Formats: sequence, C-alpha cells, structure tokens
Amino acid sequence: MTQISTQTITGTITGTTALPDRVRTLVVGAGFAGLGTAIKLQDHGFPDFLVLDKGHSVGGTWRDNTYPGAACDVHSQLYSFSFAPNPDWSRSFSPQPEIQAYLERTAVESGVLDRFRFGVTVQDITWDEDANFWLVDTDRGSVVADVVITGSGGLSEPKLPEITGLESFEGEVFHSARWNHDYDLTGKRVAVIGTGASSIQIVPEVARQVSHLDVYQRTAPWVMPRKDREYKRFEKLGFRFLPFFQRAYRTGIYWGRECFVPGFVVNPKLAAPARRLALKNIERGISDPGLREAVTPDYQIGCKRILISNDYYPALEAEHVDLVTDGIAEITPAGIVAEDGTTREVDVIVVATGFHTTEQPIAQHIKGRNGRTMADAWGEEGMTAYKGTTIAGFPNLFQIVGPNTGLGHSSMVFIIESQIAYILSALQKMGEREIVSLEPSPEVQHAWNEDLQHRMQRTVWNSGGCASWYLDSHGRNTTLWPRTTFKFRALLSEFDLDQYVVAARQDAPATTTPDTEENAA
Ligand SMILES: Cc1cc2nc3c(=O)[nH]c(=O)nc-3n(C[C@H](O)[C@H](O)[C@H](O)COP(=O)(O)OP(=O)(O)OC[C@H]3O[C@@H](n4cnc5c(N)ncnc54)[C@H](O)[C@@H]3O)c2cc1C
Repeated sequence: MTQISTQTITGTITGTTALPDRVRTLVVGAGFAGLGTAIKLQDHGFPDFLVLDKGHSVGGTWRDNTYPGAACDVHSQLYSFSFAPNPDWSRSFSPQPEIQAYLERTAVESGVLDRFRFGVTVQDITWDEDANFWLVDTDRGSVVADVVITGSGGLSEPKLPEITGLESFEGEVFHSARWNHDYDLTGKRVAVIGTGASSIQIVPEVARQVSHLDVYQRTAPWVMPRKDREYKRFEKLGFRFLPFFQRAYRTGIYWGRECFVPGFVVNPKLAAPARRLALKNIERGISDPGLREAVTPDYQIGCKRILISNDYYPALEAEHVDLVTDGIAEITPAGIVAEDGTTREVDVIVVATGFHTTEQPIAQHIKGRNGRTMADAWGEEGMTAYKGTTIAGFPNLFQIVGPNTGLGHSSMVFIIESQIAYILSALQKMGEREIVSLEPSPEVQHAWNEDLQHRMQRTVWNSGGCASWYLDSHGRNTTLWPRTTFKFRALLSEFDLDQYVVAARQDAPATTTPDTEENAA
C-alpha cells in the first residue's frame, strides 16, 4: 500500500458536492462498515451507490474516539479489512491515529470517495409502499434509493450517565468519544466516570498529566495483560513482501481468539486460565490489599467485555490517583458527591460511560411498511433481525452490525465483511430475478431469534452474574453473537432467498414458505 500523507487524504475527502436525486443503493455511515460496503459494491459491479456520513471523513469509531491512549484491543492484523492488508502496522494493537490513517488511505486508494458525502445527517428513511423505494431525508436534501444499507455503528452515539446535577457542573465536561483537545489537562483535578474499555485506556495517560485523578468505578472490569509490542523490522518486511506470511499471521490470531468462544458460550469454567491471568495482572499491578480487593470483580470473567491493559492497575496505585467505589450521589457546580457524602472538587469530568447499544438511535428514524418505525417494531421485544441483517416489515433494508452481531472476543471487521458478502449476494439475486422488494418473513425472523435467545441462556453474558451493556432493559442480550464467528460467516455465505417474502417486477408479491428448522440450524 503506498504511503499518502494524512493531510492529503483529509483534504481530498472532506469536500462535499450536492446529493443526487436517486441512487440504486444508499449507505448510511462511513466507518469500517460503510467503507467496506462501498469498496465491495464497486468491486462487484454495483457502482450506483452513495455513502452519507454526518462526520467530516471516513473512520466512524476511529474518527470520533481520539482520547489519549485510544487503540484497538484486537490485534491490528485481524482488526483490518482482509482485502486491504496493511504491512505498516507499527505494533500489535495500533493506536487510533494509525487506524484512522489506514481507513483514510484505504478509502483513497480504492477510488470510491467520489460517491461519499460528508457532513450530511440522515434524518428519516421512509419506505414508499407503492413505488417500492426508500425516501432518505437528510439535512442537505432528499435522495430516493431502491436499497438502503445502514452502517451507522453499534458504538457510535455517546451515552451520558443519568446523574443528578451533571448539567450544573461549572468546570469542563466531555465524553470520551468527543474529547476536547483544546482543553489542557496539565495540572488539573480530573474525574473519570466509568471503568470500561475506553476508561482503562484513558486513565494511565491522563494520570501522567494531571495533579489529581478520581476514577469512579461502579463495577470492576476483568483486565488481562496486554501483549502489545512493536513489530520488528524483519516482520514488517515479511508483511510487505511475503503476503502469505501476513495471511498466516492473521489466521493464527483469528484462531487464537476463537478459542475464547467455548468459555463464553459453552461453559464459563473453560475460561479459568483467563481468570488466573487476570488475577495475576492485579497482583502484578497493585500492591495495596484494599485496592486489590476493590478492583477484583465479583462476577464471572467474560460476563462483561474482557479488557486488556498493563498500565491501568499501576496508574490506580499512584499517589495522586483515587479509585472511588461508593457510587455517585450527585454532581454539584464544583465537583462530585459520592454516596457516602464525600465531596471531591474537580476542574474536569471525563464521562467514559459508553454508548447507546441496545436501542439504536437510527431505529426511530426508519419507517417501514405502514409507516411503522423500526423502534416501534422492536418495541417490547427489543432489537431483533434475521441473521443480524434484515428485518421483517423493512424491505430492501440491510443493517451492518445489526442486532446480535457483536463480539466479546474477536474482530468486528470479520463480522462486517461476512454481512457485506451476504448483502452483495442479495443484490445479485435481486438483479438477476428483477426483484423489487424483499424482506424476511416474521416467522423466519422469529425462529432465528428464538434459537439465538435459547443459545444465549447458557452463555456467561446472561448467567455470569453481572449487568452489562450487552443486555437491554428487559435483560435480553440483543447485542452479541452467541456462536463462533466462522459459523456466522457460514450462515451468511449466500443469500437464502427462500427465507424471504419477495416481490418481483410486474408481479404480485410471492410469499415463500420458510423452512424455519433449517433456518434456525
Ligand atoms: C473506543 C472503541 C474501541 C473499539 N475497539 C475495537 C476493537 O479493538 N476491535 C473491534 O472489533 N471493535 C472495536 N470497537 C467497536 C467498533 O465500533 C467496531 O469495530 C467498528 O469500528 C464499527 O464500525 P461501523 O462502521 O459499524 O460503525 P462506526 O465506526 O461507529 O461508524 C458509524 C458511522 O455512521 C455515521 N452515522 C451514524 N448515524 C448517522 C446518521 N443519522 N447520518 C449520517 N451518518 C450517520 C457516524 O457518523 C459514523 O461515522 C471499538 C469501539 C470503540 C468505541
């Protein structure tokens, strides 16, 4: 891959021109999902597409999460497109700027950016029953599309905690995904709320800069050692000049990670070695017995996302860092009052409380058959889809990173590429058979989700004794995939038209009779 300076790329991709009136396929979002879709649409002979993103460039997660210490926690060799290997990763877990530069470079080199429009927020997506198309309303005009693919992100919309008085705080407040780089933290008193994946990357970095740091922990995470290192020169040469070497490396990482699956979904006892490693990490990082106890989780490993860090625990033990476990009672103009009544005054509050995961923000804005929104269709049952990608009542609409496609152990890019292949197969069949609309039947979707939720019961996520962002307000796990990733790929390898309600051009809709048993296999 040729080297292009980030400045050139940013200059190239931030330009915007008017929206076309009509496209065959409209893609929402320009993260891994939207960009990967665009490249594959072009490669497979579907050039009539448009990608809209409210941000200023490609990257999604990696454009928005610029906090100090931001990096992937799945090896970069696997956390990248299989079709765009990068021999230049500097280390096992690349920092955010490198991932963002990779995505920008991939976008430029693939030649798809002329069909991207940035700074465009999709406001409503409405199905026209008579004309069989989607009307996509944005803040910069409307576009008609036969097919809509949403890649609007599972971890995209920051979630603020509901804490009394947060709005009254007179210092600086920002979410980890909206870092205020204009604000200098040097010498400041800082509070970080939350101890999830972003927080444990932020804390060691911020601790180096500030005069005092309070870390507010509701539930202790399990934190394993981070086996991170710089790649040696011979490895980088191997990645560049011996493609099979890089492929083998990636494959090794893939299978290593897949070994975690039985501990998550078959029997949590199988995760005992991971638990031992995590406990050792606490011993190694912290000497104070009280602090050790406070950071030791009381639920099974894997129930919440397993985190990786070598410097989080040592940072917590620093003289000027306090771990606060009493819970937050309220926030005042000057600081934070814990539930034990102690007030800690701070200059800055960093909110690292994650994202809206179990209720996708875009669902309120997608109106399918009979004007029903996706949020209403999901209603009490929570988010559901067929194969995490298509939804009854929402024809010609495909979701990437839809319900139950998330992972606790491996690369989301693997899932995203599997979904893209499924969607391309659907588009091909739609073209060949002149299909004007297709959607899974409610029965097919129901059977798929019954099977998923049945499998979910025995997973560590549902029975491991923790509350997590994997579960919705009814305790249903609507975010994670409860099987191996190779099974996911196999199930989505070809579009199964026989499971869909289909209408072909000039024909009355022909409903298939889905074979739900086969479907649930
Ligand atoms: C800090 C952090 C670290 C992570 N690390 C890893 C990791 O190591 N490994 C891993 O597998 N996963 C990781 N993830 C998960 C990560 O989100 C996915 O891997 C992946 O980046 C998701 O890509 P996406 O394209 O689906 O969504 P996103 O990257 O979230 O992109 C969605 C895009 O849609 C746009 N959008 C949303 N709504 C609208 C709208 N209405 N109109 C226009 N545009 C819209 C957004 O602006 C955004 O650009 C991490 C997530 C976070 C937050």
